[in-house]
Amino acid sequence: MDLKSLIREIPDYPKPGILFRDITTLLRDREGLRYTIDFFTEKCNAAGFQADYVIGMESRGFIFGAPLAYKLGAGFIPVRKKGKLPAAVHSIEYELEYGTDCLEMHQDALHPGSRVLIVDDLIATGGTAGATAKLVQKLECELVGFGFIIELRDLQGRNNLPNLPIISLIEY
Ligand code: 5GP
Repeated sequence: MDLKSLIREIPDYPKPGILFRDITTLLRDREGLRYTIDFFTEKCNAAGFQADYVIGMESRGFIFGAPLAYKLGAGFIPVRKKGKLPAAVHSIEYELEYGTDCLEMHQDALHPGSRVLIVDDLIATGGTAGATAKLVQKLECELVGFGFIIELRDLQGRNNLPNLPIISLIEY
């Protein structure tokens, strides 16, 4: 299936000069959605990912991470923006183009030795996935790899991730 044809391109969003890849048009397509999750699962299995948990980042990482976890027989753990999780959290700050941002995960979500796969809809600079990886590695968990629906190759986000297997379904 031609997944690219289901992704809408929005020029100048959220800022002038940015071409935003809108995945809502993929999500609303029943065949596209099913194919995406099935293909994602196949690629994870082919890569040999053995994960106890899939971690998805707010908010589009939740949409793809939870069904992938279900298919892989793993649990799902949300990583959220600051102040959204109700119980005690571990936090990590990371650099944005202007300023910093903060991601949080429940302290009791992971234990040393847990095998973890990090999932998001898209990797651009790799800042978000890289920060999440640091959070996981600080907890002495075993990070098995990364999965993205879309990878923007020109931005070389892979360089901001640890040297582990990375899956992406669509590249630009
Ligand atoms: P990075 O941290 O790799 O620079 O940016 C990736 C994060 O920003 C992801 O959480 C992703 O959801 C969001 N993001 C950045 N650009 C786009 C885009 O064009 N389309 C979508 N769907 N998400 C984007």
